Amino acid sequence: MVIVLEKNIRDDDKLRIRTFLEKNSLRVNEIAGDEETIFGAVGRVGIDPREVEILPGVQRVIPISKPYKMACREFKRDNTVVSVRGVKIGGNRVSVIAGPCAVESREQMFESAARVADSGAVMLRGGAYKPRTSPYAFQGMGAEGVRLLREAGDAYGLPVVTEIVSSEHIPAMIDYVDVYQIGARNMQNFELLKKVGALGKPVILKRGLSATIEEWLMAAEYLLASGTEDVILCERGIRTYEKATRNTLDLSAIPVLRALTHLPIIVDPSHAVGVRDKVPPMALAAIAAGADGLIVEVHPSPDIALSDGAQSLYPVQFEKMMRDIEVLSPVVGRAVSRRASSPEKGVRLESQAAPGTARSLAQLKGERITCAYSGGRGAYAEQAIKRFFDDDAIPLGTANFTEAIHAVLDGRALLGMLPIENTLAGSVYENYDNLSRFEDIEIVGETTLRIEHSLLAVKGASTDTISTVYSHPQGLAQCSDYLSGFPLWKHIETDSTSAAAELVAASGDISKAAIASETAASAYRLEPLKSGIETNPRNYTRFVIIARAGQFFCDSPNRASVIFTTPNEPGALYHALGLFLKNGLNMTKLESRPIPGEPWKYRFYANVSLPEGVSASVVSGEHIRSALAELQKISQDNGILQGVRILGLYNQKEIS
Ligand code: PEP
Ligand code: MN
Repeated sequence: MVIVLEKNIRDDDKLRIRTFLEKNSLRVNEIAGDEETIFGAVGRVGIDPREVEILPGVQRVIPISKPYKMACREFKRDNTVVSVRGVKIGGNRVSVIAGPCAVESREQMFESAARVADSGAVMLRGGAYKPRTSPYAFQGMGAEGVRLLREAGDAYGLPVVTEIVSSEHIPAMIDYVDVYQIGARNMQNFELLKKVGALGKPVILKRGLSATIEEWLMAAEYLLASGTEDVILCERGIRTYEKATRNTLDLSAIPVLRALTHLPIIVDPSHAVGVRDKVPPMALAAIAAGADGLIVEVHPSPDIALSDGAQSLYPVQFEKMMRDIEVLSPVVGRAVSRRASSPEKGVRLESQAAPGTARSLAQLKGERITCAYSGGRGAYAEQAIKRFFDDDAIPLGTANFTEAIHAVLDGRALLGMLPIENTLAGSVYENYDNLSRFEDIEIVGETTLRIEHSLLAVKGASTDTISTVYSHPQGLAQCSDYLSGFPLWKHIETDSTSAAAELVAASGDISKAAIASETAASAYRLEPLKSGIETNPRNYTRFVIIARAGQFFCDSPNRASVIFTTPNEPGALYHALGLFLKNGLNMTKLESRPIPGEPWKYRFYANVSLPEGVSASVVSGEHIRSALAELQKISQDNGILQGVRILGLYNQKEIS
């Protein structure tokens, strides 16, 4: 059973509860969360939950019918996110672990690390103690292999995972290993599970060769009951009568597990299929089925690999697979996890603050930081950056919104500027979806830009020489009144207003014009023939300023952006909104978006601020924080609000 303790429980009450449970032959695990502390009590003999409920200090008791008590959903409603030296597994992320089957040499390990890091892996694998079917096959490099794995991981900023086959090896591994892997053959080696669980480190638990899902979860229970909270389940194929592949990959285990457990689920397509050309399709299928990540074998020269060469990908194959995963992930509402420092070669890295040294946005004043945006020179987002940072920031133009976010995640830029809504055109849905997909991104500020359109053309052009006008569809639509004065002009849509300006400038043609900003005019040396041609002068775009999570803090926030979902039942949204009001939060914006893969279920985006008069003080910051913490707590308790995520806590007015 799960015993939720009262918030301010006295130490002696806590001890009394524990003693009572232990006297009844229950094993007690204390789990201290941000919001509440719980006791997980497990044992062979059942006791009446009511006997526990009446003890002083007990808030409530949740009986658990499943045999895997701590691994089951009832025990923990929210999905577990495992954190390994800054790399996260779980949530909306797709985290890819890659590397060779076995560590073979220093060169092989460094080459492997370099190649997989380059393609986007966030963790490095490599076996040092290999459980081989034949005693005559290569058994691994042992302690030396563990050290080499770690060295290569450190050189490329990748935490490392390696298999442990015997608790005797713990002393040789403990200083080097970030994540222990329990192999398929050892899934039910209970003595090993207990010893590894007791290390308190994250563990990847592979599914046994012929284990049922319940047996697998029971094995996870051993680990959890022994002391670790971080267990990642790994489906790696099971033994069936089929011989065409090494094993049969049971992808249906993913949705089945999702309902039964809060633990993250990854897939190892390499050991499942055993032949390299079948690995990428199954990797994609795993992501489509809802996996939180993959562990894949990649070898710089698979043909000479000492183990599992046939199923190891060539680095180029891995790179292609990663690109395909990148394309697939948004379809299932996920984002591929990135390391904080994986810029493309030769690109300057924007310094990222070390953990615990977050700055405020105001502290950046006067500093030459980089701010990424989508679009070319002269784009409105670039203008927003220049205004917001008084020309202190270096704008970094990228191909699209996702690229701008990647630039922030991989350190090419410290900040990003993303449009979120326009007074005439409405919300920029793509960016709402991006904010929910990229969980390692945070909103740290916002700014509003008045959008003024101009008619730009090359020198010598006039409205008499122009016959074609280029712009983003929004640009054309927003200047419809002006354009109706020239009924013979042809309208051609471009990807962005700045792309239109670039095109006209490159053509040098007096019959062409672009609708874009005045900044674009100077960027592309075009003449503004007429400015302020937008139909409605009240044309504003609100941008959010984003950073990698944990880089910034805000002393006195007056605004929070949150995402939440409600259960699919009558009145759920009404009750959810009531909770905001009850906690003294004004809702200034509410937007709903469909949840990918869950028809007719919606995710809500809300902006909340403090009522007039309370804001702009340090107290207000505390108020908004505690009100949000209260909301999160309520959401866990009653299910009215599900998965409240704070996208950012910021001050709207900061430096703007
Ligand atoms: C491995 O990952 O190298 C391995 C041996 O996997 P499994 O235990 O799934 O066979
Ligand atoms: Mn292998």
